[in-house]
Amino acid sequence: MSDVKEDQQEQQPREHSSARHADVAIIGAGPGGYSAALRSSELGKSVILIERDAVVGGTCLNRGCIPTKALITAVSAIGEAQHAQSLGINLELHGLDFGKLREHREHMVSTMTEGLSGLLKHRNIDVIQGEASIESVGTIHVTNESDTVEVTADDIIIATGSRPRPLPNLPFSHVILDSDHALTLDTFPSSAVIIGSGAIGLEFASLWNTAGCKVTLLARKDRVLSQWSKRSGVMLGRELKRQGVNVITKASCTGIDTGENLGATVHYTNGDGDNSSVEADVVLVAIGRDAATDADWFAKLGIETTDRGLISTDDLGQSSVRHIWAVGDITPGHQLAHRAFEQGITVAEAIAGLQPRPVNNDTIPQIVFSTPEAAAVGLTLQAAQDNDNYESVSETTIPLMSNARVLMTGQGGSLSVVTGCERSEPDTQLVLGAQIIGPHASEIIAEVEQLVGNHIALSDAARLIHPHPTFGEALGESLLKADGRPLHVR
Ligand code: FAD
Repeated sequence: MSDVKEDQQEQQPREHSSARHADVAIIGAGPGGYSAALRSSELGKSVILIERDAVVGGTCLNRGCIPTKALITAVSAIGEAQHAQSLGINLELHGLDFGKLREHREHMVSTMTEGLSGLLKHRNIDVIQGEASIESVGTIHVTNESDTVEVTADDIIIATGSRPRPLPNLPFSHVILDSDHALTLDTFPSSAVIIGSGAIGLEFASLWNTAGCKVTLLARKDRVLSQWSKRSGVMLGRELKRQGVNVITKASCTGIDTGENLGATVHYTNGDGDNSSVEADVVLVAIGRDAATDADWFAKLGIETTDRGLISTDDLGQSSVRHIWAVGDITPGHQLAHRAFEQGITVAEAIAGLQPRPVNNDTIPQIVFSTPEAAAVGLTLQAAQDNDNYESVSETTIPLMSNARVLMTGQGGSLSVVTGCERSEPDTQLVLGAQIIGPHASEIIAEVEQLVGNHIALSDAARLIHPHPTFGEALGESLLKADGRPLHVR
């Protein structure tokens, strides 16, 4: 009966067709799109924001940053409770109420998306729900169940984001999950294989492991986080192993057997080229995300893309087609919400005729919200040594156990700062980067970003006073050591 109804609906002509105009039209209401919308409107532009989903916020608010961190923050109470036991605070864990956890996750998501919706309304941004396609420069066709809208605009910003990349020839299914699906499971799995050891894979590994799931993590390289410094990857991998995650490095997935019911056997080759396999309830594939640029209209417009389908832009975000701009995960660089925010602001300002500074992709902080957290910004030691602009490059590392607040958490970790001189100014040591593994790394890294991004001399940075006792004091301590004046460390 309902099928007949749906068929009839499909055959019915669309009820309305209308036309609207704005100075700026944006496709996609994720971090890239909505930040561009908010800034454009602040700058006096009329703005139309088009989103195919029923709610605004994109991957970040609905399927990424917010729901994952809502679960991670909630479940971290388990680790804290276990630590509290050792401090004489007797707590008993009576398991997880997954229904309540799900409500909490959904509540966080809806609070954020409703807040964003209100803000867009407050700034008079016209949000249209529907599937957008650019017909020609300046014209977008939007369709939804009941409506077609012809949107015209002087400038168009594309912010269509990305989607999970499947393994070659192994499509996602009820058992081979992407992160969207993994977030909406009815309960945490009792066992899981996670393929991929970047931020998304590591966060799920940490979350599920803390919640009592038996996790095997397959990393292709010799360590997790292979794009980071070796020290960080090795240290985080070791810490996850200590907590019970079965981290298998140099593992390459060769196939997955799945049955009718729940369960899968993942086959892989190990570092010696031997074949092995591991069984689990579910497999999470977290090997990267593909840019959502495969709709026909991208090619028809002649927008230049890289071989991975990412849109090439100039420094300010304009694509190869004038008046068409691109921001966020569809552009080359780190696929992170805070980069998308900054790109959105920059593009909006460029369209408004201001002269914004191009986004500096070299100082974008990267964070993994695992336990312990991992955070990095700027250059690794290796990257600084390989860069001809720098000389006298070195790395200073302190153990985080030397910090009183870290010690109190029962966790450890390390903080490394990379310093060096620009060849043109060989007498001034600069802070070039940092990598942190440990509690509150995600907060401490913001201060390092200021130092790196603003080219602060090490001697000035090391004079800044950090309040005692704080986690951030660890950064002060490492800067003092890098400056040749260690206080509480050797
Ligand atoms: P998106 O957020 O993907 O938004 C694109 C929007 O465009 C979507 O809403 C989509 O529906 C819409 N759209 C696409 N095509 C059309 C069309 N033709 N018509 C209309 N609408 C369309 N980043 C962080 O910085 N910190 C984190 O902690 C973090 N955690 C993450 C955890 C997970 C599990 C995932 C998957 C990602 C995470 N990210 C995190 C990455 C972050 O979510 C993305 O970098 C960010 O959302 C990219 O923003 P965007 O605007 O480019 O695209």
